[in-house]
Amino acid sequence: MAATILYGKEIAKDIREQLAGEVAELKQNGIVPGLTVVLVGDDPASHSYVRGKARGCEEVGIRSEIIYKDASITEKELLEIVYQLNENPNVHGILVQLPLPAHISEKAVIEAISSEKDVDGFHPVNVGNMMIGYDSLLPCTANGVVELIKRTGMTIEGKHAVVIGRSNIVGKPVSYLLQRENATVTMCHSRTVDLPSYTRQADILIVAAGKAHMIGKEDVKPGAVVIDVGVNRIESGKLVGDVRFDEVKEVASYLTPVPGGVGPMTITMLLKNTIEAARNLAR
Ligand code: NDP
Repeated sequence: MAATILYGKEIAKDIREQLAGEVAELKQNGIVPGLTVVLVGDDPASHSYVRGKARGCEEVGIRSEIIYKDASITEKELLEIVYQLNENPNVHGILVQLPLPAHISEKAVIEAISSEKDVDGFHPVNVGNMMIGYDSLLPCTANGVVELIKRTGMTIEGKHAVVIGRSNIVGKPVSYLLQRENATVTMCHSRTVDLPSYTRQADILIVAAGKAHMIGKEDVKPGAVVIDVGVNRIESGKLVGDVRFDEVKEVASYLTPVPGGVGPMTITMLLKNTIEAARNLAR
């Protein structure tokens, strides 16, 4: 039987309606959640992501601001902007769009953002809290992936989840969050020997390698939930995932499309974090 397609876009719409209600409630108490995005340089993909984030904010009633800076900005100047935003009481969420130009240390910038306003969930304090299971602002893509799986209605507990990719922004946090939901998690990466022997055991398969079409139906256990995080632009200019969608939809029970799967959930989790940060900062 063909897989049910998990349209993140529709699920995100539902969640955003709920978030809009939470924003309205905060506003009644005099709190207007605010997100500031700092965008350095003119990378077209980054500009497109940032526009999506601003649209998301508008949809739920979050006040948003984008600070555009030329790629020639120095690290010191960028850090100064971050420090000012840390002090600004109207700003509850700060996001410096990555990647940054090579002369700026991403580590220095991430660490400069107040952990309470770190709505990307990349600050070491938030990462550490996530790992020990304390409340924290969670990395948006990873949180969006787990939310998507929950929306299938499946029980995560006891399932074998295989995660391909171990980056700090996707693979690692997805693995921790699934473990927190009591899945048994296997992490795979570029040095994994015989990758299909792992993927074929997965009840839940998360693919976040950034390699177009690397997973085919022979790699997937029949009935698995397959979440394709990858976004790859192929020669034709088309955006595709890491999974061969048409093939895998014949064997999976649930499958996310690219685009329109994980992407909208990522932005929605950013909105959720901004609201949470506003609530926490008002306490
Ligand atoms: P990175 O390049 O930082 O990490 C890729 C990971 O995949 C690495 O751990 C790497 O292993 C592993 N990997 C690469 N090739 C293989 C392979 N052939 N077999 C097994 N593992 C492999 O990427 P990100 O984590 O930042 O992003 C992953 C993908 O997700 C990208 O396509 C990105 O565009 C997309 N993405 C989508 C988002 C969304 O909202 N939809 C948000 C963020 C990312 P090793 O560690 O050994 O190098």
